[in-house]
Amino acid sequence: MTTKITLSGGGKYLLKHRGGIDYFVCPALDGVVIHGFSARIPSGNKQSREESIDHQRRLFGSALGIRAPFLLHIRQVHGERIFVAQGPLPSLSAGEYDGAISRSAEVALSVVTADCLPILIYEYNKKIIGAVHAGWRGTVLGVLQNALAAIQREFGGSPGDCLILLGPSLQPCCFEIQQDVLEILKIKLPYWTEVVKMVQGKIFFDLQMANLLQAKEMGVPREGIWSLDLCTFCQPCWFYSYRRDKGQTGRMVSMISLS
Ligand SMILES: [Zn+2]
Repeated sequence: MTTKITLSGGGKYLLKHRGGIDYFVCPALDGVVIHGFSARIPSGNKQSREESIDHQRRLFGSALGIRAPFLLHIRQVHGERIFVAQGPLPSLSAGEYDGAISRSAEVALSVVTADCLPILIYEYNKKIIGAVHAGWRGTVLGVLQNALAAIQREFGGSPGDCLILLGPSLQPCCFEIQQDVLEILKIKLPYWTEVVKMVQGKIFFDLQMANLLQAKEMGVPREGIWSLDLCTFCQPCWFYSYRRDKGQTGRMVSMISLS
């Protein structure tokens, strides 16, 4: 049975509410693959940040109705490594990675963020899922492109058959960078002029556009790329923001699962 997917990136995400959690889903994948970008999730007053995140991941997984027994946990380090999850897994924790891909219905993938960009991937032909965490460092290292390359290499998927969902992150209105970061962007991103804006002597970075251009460069059609144009910093009712809250903040969860 083939799944009919309407490619119309640029449209609006749907806002849903279940299990006490507000979250956003892509209309093109609603009812096709279980996924969502959460807004703020109560942290449950856990002792450590790790426990809070684990609690939030479980709450969101159950709100989405995920049945996959493994909610994979990757320890995000602003790097470029992608974990290939071939379920069932020996452990729920995969070590230091900033993205994961899978074709297994046993495994739900997620990333946690609070300003960095969460990206969910669905390759609808081979039914491959992916989740990526991209801040400016990961973007410079090409973490999304690594995930797309791994989808090809490991599972024979094609970027041309991928939907790329960009979630809530800092937007250019609030993503100020300093000269040292600009110098790195100039070296690493050939299209840096398209993702950097100067306003009154300050430098701002368009994280979503950088990842969109990287996806296009890999062969993802523009109409297969969706984005949520809400800024984590500007929307305190909806989102945690590492910058706004000066590091003392929670995390949003972005999750995708085949079952
Ligand atoms: Zn903003």
